[in-house]
Amino acid sequence: MSLITKIMDFMFEKIGIPEFEKIIEIENALIEEDGVLGFSSKSAPRFDIPIEASKRKGVNLFITPRILPHILSSAKNMRKSFKDLQHNPAKPKVEISSKDLADLKKIAESVGVYDLGFTKVPHELIFQNKSLLYDNAIVLVMKMDNQLINTAPSKKALKNIWYTYDYLGRATMKIAKFLRQRGYSSQASHPLGGIVLYPRLAEKAGLGSFGKAGLLITPVNGSTVRLAAVFTSIQNLPITGENEHSWIGEFCKTCLKCIKECPPQAILKDPIKHNTGRVTHIDNEKCFPYFAENYACTICIKVCPFNNTSYEKIKVVFEKRK
Ligand code: SF4
Ligand code: SF4
Repeated sequence: MSLITKIMDFMFEKIGIPEFEKIIEIENALIEEDGVLGFSSKSAPRFDIPIEASKRKGVNLFITPRILPHILSSAKNMRKSFKDLQHNPAKPKVEISSKDLADLKKIAESVGVYDLGFTKVPHELIFQNKSLLYDNAIVLVMKMDNQLINTAPSKKALKNIWYTYDYLGRATMKIAKFLRQRGYSSQASHPLGGIVLYPRLAEKAGLGSFGKAGLLITPVNGSTVRLAAVFTSIQNLPITGENEHSWIGEFCKTCLKCIKECPPQAILKDPIKHNTGRVTHIDNEKCFPYFAENYACTICIKVCPFNNTSYEKIKVVFEKRK
């Protein structure tokens, strides 16, 4: 292990881990507040990657001086997203004007959000021990860099992942601040960790469809994206309830590339049914050790056809084949 890696590991252990533990404490304390929306008996536990990684040896998820600032900046904004709740207006507006909605979309675009959707949050998508101020959700999609992800598993791909967490986190905070300035209440939910199960929420918002690899496949950039959300007092968000991407589930049955290419064979053809009733195709016990020791792996994103071929092209070929 190089000296620089040892220093990074030391700093992460001494600064990063206590910070993430404090954030979890702050997140979990919100449930004590009046009127919040809590999790349900069907909610999943959240898998906290930094905390879980700190329990293992041979982890290389936080390794370079260029990555650590993005992790610490993400942690700072996760904590700030709760502190900022005190700046919500005492009597927030609940109906958004068409001008504010148009401005919201412009602001989102200006901070690098590539797509956004609207939906209501079902309680079962809130992670265990977490809670929200509002169930009106604005779901945000930011692209990762395909060229860098194509090098996965690598330091370059890992850096791009942490960079995207950080920049999407900042974008989420800016959107929440914009809404407050216009008189609405908001709660930013950082992409790292998050209070809700983002892929399922984004699917409900019509932003893509769930693939075999457990990730949201979007028309904008396949699963080479990160997701976040802002919860708000706005009750008239333009929720359509439609999802035109549900064909992806059928496509996955004919593809199975992520299943074949996953080094520890952690993606299963047959789904696993969890105690909460949730169904997934990933065996986390097999995925995480490989993920933690191989720069966050990301092979399942890299090999997915939607990573390098356009959504429309895949859809046309698939429709013809049927
Ligand atoms: S991240 Fe790697 S180990 Fe985990 S499911 Fe994807 S390909 Fe498999
Ligand atoms: S690699 Fe194939 S099976 Fe796996 S998520 Fe992508 S499209 Fe679906």
